[in-house]
Amino acid sequence: MAQRSVKMGTDEHGHLHLIGSFDTLTGQKIQSLLHALAKKRAGDERTTEQRYADAFAEVVDLALTAKALPTHGGERPQVIVTISYADLMASLGTGFTAWGEPISAGLARQIACDANILPVLLGGEGRPLDVGRSNRTATPAMRKGLAVRDKGCAFPGCDRPPAWTEAHHVVHWLHGGETKIDNLVLLCSHHHHVMHDEGWEIVFEDGIPTFIPPRWVDPDQKPMRNVRVDLAGESAV
Ligand SMILES: [Zn+2]
Ligand SMILES: [Zn+2]
Repeated sequence: MAQRSVKMGTDEHGHLHLIGSFDTLTGQKIQSLLHALAKKRAGDERTTEQRYADAFAEVVDLALTAKALPTHGGERPQVIVTISYADLMASLGTGFTAWGEPISAGLARQIACDANILPVLLGGEGRPLDVGRSNRTATPAMRKGLAVRDKGCAFPGCDRPPAWTEAHHVVHWLHGGETKIDNLVLLCSHHHHVMHDEGWEIVFEDGIPTFIPPRWVDPDQKPMRNVRVDLAGESAV
């Protein structure tokens, strides 16, 4: 027990390196959790290491949304990213986390897709001039509606339940997309990355999200759906 330790530090790219040693019981818990989440999925081309990194990220996301999590000074823990509005709109350039780690504009857009955005207008010296508040996240009622419609991550072949998902804006709200059920799709964090990075498209057919693969995945770009959406019955909300 006395040997337990976690060491972490970031490199010059802002990537976190983590090495840890845990007692047997904690080790068992971590292993069974990560083994379950890191399972290969259909068409999965991730390495074993990448699958375990994604599994770890999923656990972190779930912990961050859990109600029992301790709060920092009354506020829910937040990820703070500073980026210019023009760079965010154009998906170009680099933002920075509160710790000064660089973060790509594309990743900043993905974070902004299902996050409370607190715009802070900075003056010439980098001092905040004005702080506004706008809410771009799905309301609990919308999430419930989405959970009933999508029954979990809506990506074809994915089995993640609603509690493990984020609400992705099909038309990004930066481009005028509204935060309403017809413009939101539940995606697990892995498939949220896929949607933002790999050129998939989502269209609604009879109100059901349908995925159009990029040409390099399917030259015919045949629309696909998660089979769960066509199954009747209750979903676990
Ligand atoms: Zn998104
Ligand atoms: Zn998924």
